[in-house]
Amino acid sequence: MNTAERVVHFLRKRAGQYFCDDCIVQELRLSKPVTRMTDQIGRGSNMRGSGNRREVAICSRCGEQKLSIMTLPEKLN
Ligand SMILES: [Zn+2]
Repeated sequence: MNTAERVVHFLRKRAGQYFCDDCIVQELRLSKPVTRMTDQIGRGSNMRGSGNRREVAICSRCGEQKLSIMTLPEKLN
């Protein structure tokens, strides 16, 4: 998996929870900031990027109000 795929996978496993960029970097032990990547994923221009929210929210990991990203839970139908 490349880094973008790892971020998408991480968010899909935790659908419904917001994560700020810093926490994603720490959780995935990345060496570079992910801001550009999470911007892309949030805009839906990256792979299966639709169904994401990119906004300032309370990060579920660090509890701070920051620019975060969340994958919407799958619709049950
Ligand atoms: Zn955080």
